[in-house]
Parts: sequence; structure tokens; C-alpha cells
Amino acid sequence: MKILVANIGSTSLKWRLYDFDGKQERMLHKGGYERVADYPKAIENCLAELQGAGMIRSESDLAAVGFKTVVAKGVAGCVRLSEPVLQAMEAFNPIAPAHNPPYITGIRLFAKRMPATPLIGLFETAFYQWAPEASTRYAVPESWREAGVRRWGFHGASHKFVAERSAELLGRHDIAHRARQLYVDAGASPVSGPPLRVISCHLGGSSSITGIRNGIAVGNSLGLSPQSGLPHNNRVGDLDSFALPLVMRTLGLSLDEVERQLCKESGLKGLSGVSNDIRDIQTAAAQGNSRAQLALDVFIHSTRHWIGAYLAQLNGVDALVFTAGIGENRPELRALICDQLDQLGIALDPAANESVKGTEGSIGSTGSRTKVFVIPANEELVVAREVRRLLEGQ
Ligand code: ADP
Repeated sequence: MKILVANIGSTSLKWRLYDFDGKQERMLHKGGYERVADYPKAIENCLAELQGAGMIRSESDLAAVGFKTVVAKGVAGCVRLSEPVLQAMEAFNPIAPAHNPPYITGIRLFAKRMPATPLIGLFETAFYQWAPEASTRYAVPESWREAGVRRWGFHGASHKFVAERSAELLGRHDIAHRARQLYVDAGASPVSGPPLRVISCHLGGSSSITGIRNGIAVGNSLGLSPQSGLPHNNRVGDLDSFALPLVMRTLGLSLDEVERQLCKESGLKGLSGVSNDIRDIQTAAAQGNSRAQLALDVFIHSTRHWIGAYLAQLNGVDALVFTAGIGENRPELRALICDQLDQLGIALDPAANESVKGTEGSIGSTGSRTKVFVIPANEELVVAREVRRLLEGQ
């Protein structure tokens, strides 16, 4: 069974093609385009590349196309992307303005191009279905909650992969199985042995921290929108809501302009004034740029703040995991995040930490009570597995 997973950005299309046969899972092909101006042409080129590489004869060889969809009003989990679901995504465009509109446009183009192929989305919120209600609520009037104002949590596919893989690495196959089956068993399969506590740090273009107990998320630093929590590349991260009336009244900004600045001019870019890419910011900081240094300091401080939150929620941690662009590739930032945590049982092995870049590895010191892992993100595989399950009716 061949499943294509398409990752849609406002100007990019990336894909991975998987083949499932019984217990065998293989990634057959991956590719993508940046700076896409003509999306229908990009889809056409993607299909042509898959044909040219001998992966499919025509699009009818694809059992489905899967998408890592972000958020929709009243929709959770893994679902067929029917027109009502796309409209439910549209209803939440205000909380995911950078993510939902390109996905909706892209999915409609796929539907037009291949009307007979099932299009299926795994929503990024799905992993938080069993988080305790107290962790999901804001202290707002009831009518706001009914309008959808609550903590949803995002990066679900990434953190779910970490839940599965970290349990495997720790030899807890019961928990790995439970995490893998989460959406089938509604998180209910029993656990033998002591609880497994994991803190997963997805640090990339957008960043979030999740606490995971026995394979199930207890919360995520991203709240109502994928703009909250840690500072992101150019999106703001946590902000007191009263900043909005302040800047609108004193700077005379319109709501549209405030929204634009929160999404495009904030985060690491806004703090540093240099770039939205942490590599450029590190270079500038090393050359003495104090705003760039401050941006790094804020990022580290915020990451530690959220790790601390889940250390308390989980009553300790068995594995601390780094994933995504920054988490996988920047040992010097991992070292700063883990600095002075030895009293909490977390310490890195400097040589091991330095040697792991973009690959899986164990980077904790031998004396450290907590294991520290780097686990490369594998969100597309999580999407493909759930799409397969939906198709097979499990
Ligand atoms: P996204 O959240 O968009 O999926 P990624 O996980 O791809 O983001 O991370 C991209 C970010 O990771 C870049 O903005 C960059 O700041 C950072 N990064 C740091 N080092 C590297 C590296 N060696 N390769 C790729 N990205 C890196």
C-alpha cells in the first residue's frame, strides 16, 4: 500500500512516499520544492518525479495522500479531508494564519488533480486528546471557551514519534506499543511496570515542549495557537494578552497589522533584528551582536522554563529528548539548555553531545539519572501510519 505524505508550506511542497506491506514499512522516496509560485504545477511535478523514479505508474497507485494538518474547529484525530472538514479548518484560520490557509488551498488542489484518491489529515492537536482538562483551560469567560479558546497543543506527530521511539530506546516496549496504538485504543491499553516520564523538546523553525507520561501527552507549550510557548523563528511565542490593547492604542496599530507583526516580525527575528534562522543569530552573537545574544538567551531561558514545568507535572523525568532542526543539529544550544540541571538528575556527556548532529544518539553523562537522547523528527511516518490505519478501518 503506497501512501504519499505531503507537507504544505505557504511557498513550499515537500513529500515522502511510504510503502506498507504487512509489518514492513519502507520510505520509497522523498523530495520537495522551495519558493513555489505555481502550486498546481508543483503537484504535477511531484507526481512526475515519482513516476520518473519508477515509484508509481500513475496517481492511481497511491492508496491515499496524507497531510499533517494543524487545527480545525470541532475536528480531531485522523480524518478524511472532506469539504466540511476543510471549512472547519477555515473557521480556525484566525489561530493558524501561517498554516491553515496554505494547507486548505493545497488540499483543494490535490482534490481537483486526483479526485479518486482519498485525502486524509492527521491533525497536530490529536496527541493531546487525553491531556488533563486543567492543562487545557484558560481562565476566560465560558462563551470564549465555547468559541474554541483553550490550549490545543501542536507538533503532535513529532512528539508522538518521540513518545514511541524514546520508549523503545529505554527498552519499554509496553509503552512504545501503547504510544503506537494511542488513537486505536484511545490511550487505554494497560501499563505494567513503573511509569515512564519523557520530556520532548521539538526545537526548530517553530518550537514546543511536551510532557509525556506512559506514552500519553500531559500538555504542550503551544496553547491556543501555533504561535505561543517558546519564541519561534518569526512568530511571537508566549505573550501577555494585554500587550495587544497597549500597542494598538499607543502605536496606533490595526488588528491586522498586529497579527502580521506577531506572525512575521516577532520571535527570534524580532528579538535579534538579524534573522529568523538560529544559525545566523549564533554567528552574529559570536561577532558581538548583543541583540542576537539576547535572542539566544531568551530562547534558552524559555526552553528551560517549559522543561521545568513538565519536570513538576511528571514528578521527574526518565528521558529528555531533543528533536527537529535546532534540537538535532545544535549541540552548543543543547549544552546551554541542560546546564546546571545536575541537581535534577540531568547532565550531558560533552563529547557525546558534540558528536551527535542530525542522527539518533544518547548524549547524557553516564552518571546522569535521566537519559538524554537526540531523536530525528519523523512526523511523516506517524502521519502515514495513521492514514494506513484509517484506510484499513482499524
Ligand atoms: P520546522 O519547525 O519548520 O519543521 P525544522 O525542524 O526544519 O523546522 O528546523 C529548522 C530550523 O532549525 C532552522 O530555522 C534553523 O534555525 C535550525 N537549524 C539549526 N541548525 C540546522 C541544520 N544544521 N540544519 C537545518 N536546520 C538547522
